[in-house]
Amino acid sequence: MTFVITTPLYYVNDKPHLGSVYTTIICDSIARYKRLAGEDVIFITGVDEHGLKIQRTANEKGIEPKSHCDEISEVFNNNWKNWNISFDKFIRTSSKNHEFVVNEFYERVKASDDIYMGVQKGWYCVGCEEFKDNPENSSTYKCPIHQKNLEWKNEENLFFRLSKYQKEIEKIINEPSFIEPIERKNEIINFVSRGLKDFSISRTNVSWGIPVPGYDNHTFYVWFDALLGYVSAISADATEHSLEKSINGGWPADVHFIGKDILRFHAVYWPAMLISANMKVPKKVFGHGFLTREGQKMGKSLGNVLDPDLLLTKYGNDPVRWYLIKDISLGNDGDFQDKRFVDIINNDLANTIGNLLNRTSSMSRKWFDNKVPNNEKILSENKLENSAKIAVENYIYNFDNYKLDLAANEVLSLAINTNLYLNDNQPWLLIKDKDNLPLVKQIIYNVLESTRIIGLLLIPLLPELSTKINEQLGSIYREEIPWKQQLSWGLLVSNSSLPKPTPIINKLEYEQHL
Ligand SMILES: [Zn+2]
Repeated sequence: MTFVITTPLYYVNDKPHLGSVYTTIICDSIARYKRLAGEDVIFITGVDEHGLKIQRTANEKGIEPKSHCDEISEVFNNNWKNWNISFDKFIRTSSKNHEFVVNEFYERVKASDDIYMGVQKGWYCVGCEEFKDNPENSSTYKCPIHQKNLEWKNEENLFFRLSKYQKEIEKIINEPSFIEPIERKNEIINFVSRGLKDFSISRTNVSWGIPVPGYDNHTFYVWFDALLGYVSAISADATEHSLEKSINGGWPADVHFIGKDILRFHAVYWPAMLISANMKVPKKVFGHGFLTREGQKMGKSLGNVLDPDLLLTKYGNDPVRWYLIKDISLGNDGDFQDKRFVDIINNDLANTIGNLLNRTSSMSRKWFDNKVPNNEKILSENKLENSAKIAVENYIYNFDNYKLDLAANEVLSLAINTNLYLNDNQPWLLIKDKDNLPLVKQIIYNVLESTRIIGLLLIPLLPELSTKINEQLGSIYREEIPWKQQLSWGLLVSNSSLPKPTPIINKLEYEQHL
């Protein structure tokens, strides 16, 4: 089974911000999870490079749009490598291969009689690259996202017959799993119920774009072009590029992860374009929320933009991943708070998980000759085994349903239960009486076994920390055995060696100003 997951193709106006890092980390976790579950994953990310806004940004810098895009797309590519993102494809919409796919796609849509020449009049936000629905006082109205005045446009454009697909789109958006979360779905259903209007797919005043064949001065509207990046990415590395290759290579996408602001393009325009081209529509569009900082919207004018590079350098990859995945319910807005960040990392990762592993492996090494004790199986009821079984079941259910925060919390709960178990049983007291030795062996075995499962469950969430846990337990993860099988209780090998423990994560210091 091929599983295709996409981040948005990020706009190369600026370097990646925290919101882009968030979406990409979420997709990375899911991609890693699906690979572990045995699926053939195509994880797509990339950059959306065309359009008026980029053209203007490059002009302001006094360079060609192409040079600007080369520079920023390199920044994105390197950035994802620094964040240890396991993407399979990185698509640039200014690439020749992509242009082939756009042209082929356009021919298909044209063959469906869905393209015509018309006049586009209206108020346009260059930041959004989108016409706004006739806001009142349009000349003074500012786009709420960009805080910039709209521009009046009146030009001959090619149009796509979106209105023709009203019924089909209504059907698709009402399917239970197509749009998530539910609040977003209702917004889209409302929008579509007002009646779909044809939209223009070409521009005449934008030179930085893919030329429309047969129409001088027309380039494709940036969204018409960019959405196709999800398709062209699939065969981006093929020597002979074609739409057919991408379709056969894994299309449709299983899920598009996007910010809620671009849901309309993905859940309405995009499926209609695909149906017109006789292609399958994506299986799911997931619109996640926005990130604020200390309760406030981040913005350049407010001077409170949190630079993700700074977070990465200062705290490392896994702490940031843990906070973003565990503390934000996917689909809702999230808030980044410095103090809360430090507290969560110290409590969850350093104290609850890190200490558990270190103190248990130290006890085991001390009492049992640097080894895992024998699994004595003398307790009739194994509480910890039950906790682990429940945690694994819930974790898988939640991951499968993209409830990553709940999946992360299952791992944490298991760690908390394991700590409780250790404290309730107090093996450090029991060991004083030689008769208790079998019982102590059983307790320590159980705790180590539980940490083994915690380590395995953390692989998709925290790739670096989980590797350290694995090494600490004697490199017990076996790549040749399906990961899900390894989640069964009791697989830690009795009497295997335990390496000398080193802290798997250091406690973070809170500083007032990051
Ligand atoms: Zn805007």
